[in-house]
Amino acid sequence: MSTNEREVRVRFAPSPTGPLHIGGVRTALYNYLFARQHGGKMILRIEDTDSQRFVPGAEDYINEALAWLGIGIDEGVREGGPYGPYKQSERRDIYREHVKMLLDAGKAYIAFDTPAELDARRAEVPNFQYDASTRMSMRNSLTLPAEEVERLIADGAQYVVRFRIEPGRDVAVDDLIRGRVTIKSDILDDKVLYKSADDLPTYHLANIVDDHLMKVSHVIRGEEWLPSAPLHVLLYEAFGWADTAPAFVHLPLLLKPDGKGKLSKRDGDRLGFPVFPLEWHDPKSGETSRGYRESGYLPEAVVNFLALLGWNPGDDTEVMSIDELISKFSLDHCSKAGAKFAFEKGKWFNHEYLMALDDAVLAQLFKPVLEAHGVNTADFSDDYIARAAGLVKSRISFVNDLWDNARFFFVAPEEYDPKAVKKRWSADMPAIMTALADLLEKEPDFGSASLEPRVMAWISENGYHLGNVMNAFRLTVVGECKGPHMFDITDLLGREATVRRIRAGVERIQPAE
Ligand code: GLU
Repeated sequence: MSTNEREVRVRFAPSPTGPLHIGGVRTALYNYLFARQHGGKMILRIEDTDSQRFVPGAEDYINEALAWLGIGIDEGVREGGPYGPYKQSERRDIYREHVKMLLDAGKAYIAFDTPAELDARRAEVPNFQYDASTRMSMRNSLTLPAEEVERLIADGAQYVVRFRIEPGRDVAVDDLIRGRVTIKSDILDDKVLYKSADDLPTYHLANIVDDHLMKVSHVIRGEEWLPSAPLHVLLYEAFGWADTAPAFVHLPLLLKPDGKGKLSKRDGDRLGFPVFPLEWHDPKSGETSRGYRESGYLPEAVVNFLALLGWNPGDDTEVMSIDELISKFSLDHCSKAGAKFAFEKGKWFNHEYLMALDDAVLAQLFKPVLEAHGVNTADFSDDYIARAAGLVKSRISFVNDLWDNARFFFVAPEEYDPKAVKKRWSADMPAIMTALADLLEKEPDFGSASLEPRVMAWISENGYHLGNVMNAFRLTVVGECKGPHMFDITDLLGREATVRRIRAGVERIQPAE
């Protein structure tokens, strides 16, 4: 596809009707990658023309989520820009003017049918549709005398403006992922473009007027909007903008993890994964929904995971930084088929990104977790925390998992895993462990390089069972028979804490019968 002729300008256009769903995040991300790759602009437009569904806090949520993920916006409500305002409720004059343009050109008309009248017609006519076959029997500016239309409006009667769609046309939608999709104009109804009741346009009008005025070059959006594309094509034509109409790109659906049907919030609740980028408190129900951020995901991992849901780089590469994604992204490698929301893969990405972090950076993420568990992090050096995190990071998927895996570096065991005690704490262990503590106390060099061979030699000189002794040793120091290499642990804990723990274990652990 050639994008040479035209500056690439894309937009993410969410409606603030609730928290941004993870599918919306993927749409924003693909727009962003595309814009950055082509040196173009990324617009954030708030589509708040549906006053019934407006939810307070949703717009801030959208901004915060995009900022957390590093999806930068060039033009928007907060950023400003040459084509503002970027919030539709602040563009009423523009829409009114455009509705008038269509009315004056005879491409739209005013309809007074009340909801009750429409319901009555629906009850009467099977599969009733407001279109060329029915519009001449309805109450609108095509059937009523001009004076009556004026009088009704002057009297404050509520009305809508409908788009006049002529039948018998083949409407072609050229989608850069799906190719050309052609439909017959007969199946379309005369869509409502504007409602006098709230002096606001509907999504369709506002969306295409803004895309035109904001000079959008590519409309990249979720598949669910595909059915509205033919109508949009006709609207561009009616305004005389067909030549500069943006290219369409409808992204594949995100499917349930098992692939059957569209991903929903319930799948997340059922299988235990977030479907929202950030935690969301529903102002109406008071319900709280989990977010990726609060669940311990790194934004880079979420971005990488989402980028591969519907696109691939053409080879098996999986871990890609945002810059690599920007350079590799291509609509040619976006799939038509829906993408299964393999949330386990998201966890895997998070693990990979945590592993790649510098231990010092990981330590900074670990600190609040330690504090939350009552550890005073000021008692430990940054280097100590970093080394502790580094020793266990291969076992974690989330920052929070650091606690379970590394807590013993910060608090001495108070309890000992009963199964391990049963298996490892034989009657001779207290004496052997006391001897080990004595040895460690005297050992001139406590560093693992010298300590490890020394302890190994001591075990074999005494004819002890290596596995039994090492596991009992671990039990006293860690509280269970898990964790990183034992001499990495002692190296970090240091002589004093190690010896103290062995002696405390001897005191406290009751030998199994
Ligand atoms: N406001 C629509 C939405 O919430 C925008 C769809 C589009 O991108 O055209 O998804």
